[in-house]
Amino acid sequence: MSDYKNIWVFIETAKGEAKNVGLELLNEGKRLAQVKQEKVVAVIIGNNNEAAAQVAIAYGADQVISIEGEEYLDFNADGYTNVMVQLVEKYLPSTILVGATNNGRDVASRTATRLRTGLTADCTGLDINEDGLVAWTRPAFGGNLMATILCPATKPQIGTIRPGVFKKAEPDASRTVEIIKEEIKTPVEMIRTKIVDTIKAVGDLGVKLEEAEVIVSGGRGLEKPENFALLQELADVLGGTVGASRVAVDAGWVPVQKQVGQTGKTVGPKIYIAVGISGAVQHLVGMSSSDTIIAINMDPDAPIFDIADYGLVGDLFEIIPVLIEEFKKLKA
Ligand code: FAD
Repeated sequence: MSDYKNIWVFIETAKGEAKNVGLELLNEGKRLAQVKQEKVVAVIIGNNNEAAAQVAIAYGADQVISIEGEEYLDFNADGYTNVMVQLVEKYLPSTILVGATNNGRDVASRTATRLRTGLTADCTGLDINEDGLVAWTRPAFGGNLMATILCPATKPQIGTIRPGVFKKAEPDASRTVEIIKEEIKTPVEMIRTKIVDTIKAVGDLGVKLEEAEVIVSGGRGLEKPENFALLQELADVLGGTVGASRVAVDAGWVPVQKQVGQTGKTVGPKIYIAVGISGAVQHLVGMSSSDTIIAINMDPDAPIFDIADYGLVGDLFEIIPVLIEEFKKLKA
């Protein structure tokens, strides 16, 4: 077991560009690696990885392992798992951090199963315990308590971590580190899926929640779908995007991609404005790491005010139009 060293971060890419979650995990992976006096290694699988490798280095990778091939142009679980398993068997990493995206969840679970090791899914916190193991924290029992999970018997320890939980480092474009290029081919017949077509989601969903610096989220207090236009206007003035509580999503007012919380997205924007949202624990778990939280609610005892940096007690239908006007004046 002591042969297993270094913390790997799977850098998910889209059209050759590194997604934010991998860069966030590099920063947290580096913190863990420093505690263990190990390296944080970026693992990139794709068709042309040069740009993503440079970004990963700027965001803190101590080493990059890059695997290129036409069969990896689009994500496919069979090919990517084949690569991950072969790499792990060669390099023996102690830990693998993977973003809890659709693709990340797919490749991480398959890799863990092939290697017969443990995986902690959907983590929201990481640490190193006194025995040097990763302590993976994730919500349990409907978000009412946080469970810390260890994987003491097998290596590597693998976990998926929600996008937006950790912050990226400040990039340093002057960093240079070793890039190891590995040749791993996956026979075509092994790849059981192929992308036939890519269809854009219907409707304007705006900036992705996980990438947004400002999120204006609405809940039951918005009363009906048309009222979300008000939040959209505020989000537009602030250069942000609209999010929602589960109640607003379940009511069909907002698409599910916009849901923030335990069964939705985890976000960590610079500014999160919660409008007509009470602050149930399942919502808080998805947004409490935001830099600044502003709550607008007519109930002064709403739990959202317990974590808000700024609170406005009052009717959102009076407050939001005033905010829109004032922000417009500031921009003019
Ligand atoms: P409410 O709790 O009804 O709050 C509405 C708020 O609006 C109230 O505080 C009220 O004072 C205020 N309000 C009303 N009118 C106005 C007005 N005119 N002006 C200002 N304020 C006003 N929830 C999530 O959000 N995300 C999740 O991912 C999620 N996952 C869940 C998973 C599980 C397993 C379970 C059991 C629940 C989950 N929930 C989730 C649901 C969660 O428990 C709450 O029910 C939900 O977050 C409440 O949504 P809300 O705040 O919009 O509604």
